[in-house]
Amino acid sequence: MKNWLDNAENHIGSQSSNLDQVDWGRVIPFILLHLVCLFGLITGVSTTAIIICIVSYLIRMFAITAFYHRYFSHKSFKTHRLTQFLFAFLGTTATQRGPLWWAAHHRHHHIHSDTEADSHSPKAGFWNSHMLWFLNKRNFPTKWQRIKDFAQYKELRWLDRFDIIPPILFATMIFILGIFIENYFPEAGASRWQILIWGYFISTLMLAHVTYSINSVAHRWGSKRFDTHDESRNNFFLAILTLGEGWHNNHHKFPSSARQGIYWWEFDLSYYLLCLMKAMGLIWDVKKHDLAKVNQEQVTENSAS
Ligand SMILES: [Zn+2]
Ligand SMILES: [Zn+2]
Repeated sequence: MKNWLDNAENHIGSQSSNLDQVDWGRVIPFILLHLVCLFGLITGVSTTAIIICIVSYLIRMFAITAFYHRYFSHKSFKTHRLTQFLFAFLGTTATQRGPLWWAAHHRHHHIHSDTEADSHSPKAGFWNSHMLWFLNKRNFPTKWQRIKDFAQYKELRWLDRFDIIPPILFATMIFILGIFIENYFPEAGASRWQILIWGYFISTLMLAHVTYSINSVAHRWGSKRFDTHDESRNNFFLAILTLGEGWHNNHHKFPSSARQGIYWWEFDLSYYLLCLMKAMGLIWDVKKHDLAKVNQEQVTENSAS
């Protein structure tokens, strides 16, 4: 149980012989996350529960794409140390491990995209790229050598170590919201348990599998605008669900750009919200792709699968 609460307490040595096997003891909470969603069949559903589920999804998807991905992994803008911590904390509520673990593994993916060394290339199987890769022992530890820049902040190291705390606080907050709705808005027909199941568990599950789809689906299905020497694709459907991350081939071409959609019709809500945050003075030095390079290096849009 201690291994579920404190990441520093793992004793997985590189000498372990079965690094590529699923670490069943440690992934029990991940399995439970799926099973608990089934309680939705008992609690039922209401319009209020669905709205809270979607809002909870959107806030945390934004935190994953804008902060975990574009900020911590690619440093596509700058911010203050305090907002940096708040961004990291919000991202951690998505229950996808800590910011340093997430960003370090993602940097590794960009360096080795779709080669043998890539932890989650669909070339090694769809399910491996989708989720088996992070359930094994090899990829449990944070790749510290890839995240030395942010690892110097002790508050981020703390968050990475106790990455279970923000999800617990977030779920508690959702439950308290459920109690409030149950007591003061009984006409909504939503119980506290219904709000918890939909607002945290089902929302988190959707968030998880849509995020994983960037590694699995967006490296397999979609169109290639640039020759990026990997299998990354632009996938419109995923771009909608991930608030802009689906332009994954664009992203592999210009990884440090805060904007992943290139043309106006390439929906990238995370980027629009980052522009708003820039206008508010919360972030600055927002990087963008070089349009001259886009025109020069664009290859024909051939749909491939
Ligand atoms: Zn990728
Ligand atoms: Zn990336």
